[in-house]
Amino acid sequence: MIISVASGKGGTGKTLVSTSLALSMENNVQLLDCDVEEPNAHIFIKAEIKNKYPAFIPIPQIDKEKCNFCGKCAEVCVYNAIAVLKQDVLVFKELCHGCGACSFLCPQKAIREINKEIGVVNKGNFKAIEFIEGKLNIGEAMAPPLIRQVKEHINAEKTVIIDAPPGTSCPVIVSITETDFCLLVTEPTPFGLNDLILSVEVMRKLKIPFGVIINRCDLGDEETQKYCTKENIPILMNIPFKKEIAIAYSKGTPLVEAFPEYKNKFMDLLNKIKVIKRSEWEKSIISQ
Ligand code: SF4
Ligand code: SF4
Repeated sequence: MIISVASGKGGTGKTLVSTSLALSMENNVQLLDCDVEEPNAHIFIKAEIKNKYPAFIPIPQIDKEKCNFCGKCAEVCVYNAIAVLKQDVLVFKELCHGCGACSFLCPQKAIREINKEIGVVNKGNFKAIEFIEGKLNIGEAMAPPLIRQVKEHINAEKTVIIDAPPGTSCPVIVSITETDFCLLVTEPTPFGLNDLILSVEVMRKLKIPFGVIINRCDLGDEETQKYCTKENIPILMNIPFKKEIAIAYSKGTPLVEAFPEYKNKFMDLLNKIKVIKRSEWEKSIISQ
């Protein structure tokens, strides 16, 4: 089963949840840090990195001997990464997503692809956890291709936990796509609720089953709870605010290490996810 952990905004406790869930399992677990612009799961999962895989995207290079400046490449590039002038073709590497459409469709076969390094995929182990993280190069904007390369390491035989980037934009969509369940981590504040509502819209559009975890549940107001009840969204876990949790987190001590009683709570969470998945599966069988 692949479980993604997402949140509408940063700082809600997404990494706290994903690392705690992974550390609560005894074996057969993978943790993927797909928050490639700011990966920080490694602070809690102190994996020995055994393999490093440079990540590339293919960037077009124009052969001006063959090019007749027809403009087709600029026409097909939805990212505006190519401009064709009267006697020149400009490629804006920073905008290129490496999709290959321009080289595939060039009628003159005047485009060849060269690799541009965008970051690295690190792979290692910590206790029972197989740990994989993507790190985007500083100044690089192309998170989605690197996230896809991190996800190529998914082993479907294991329980896979994906720490997704915050927000609801492209990197999040790429991270949560094809996951079996998504945990949305939020906090009970007006900002938290606003971002949760946006995340819920995304989940429903992508048809990904999901549930909510309220972090620092005893601070703020009751609006998040009311919203979840009204929308029939399961609240799978509440994590109260505790100064000691914040201190442990700031020192890089995982929650389940500082408070071992949370291990059972995270295993309960996993069981709740399995029950929801099973009931969805049963419903789909009945409706066939
Ligand atoms: S599509 Fe090919 S031939 Fe046409 S402008 Fe682009 S590179 Fe040149
Ligand atoms: S590879 Fe894709 S994104 Fe890059 S320039 Fe060509 S069409 Fe545009």
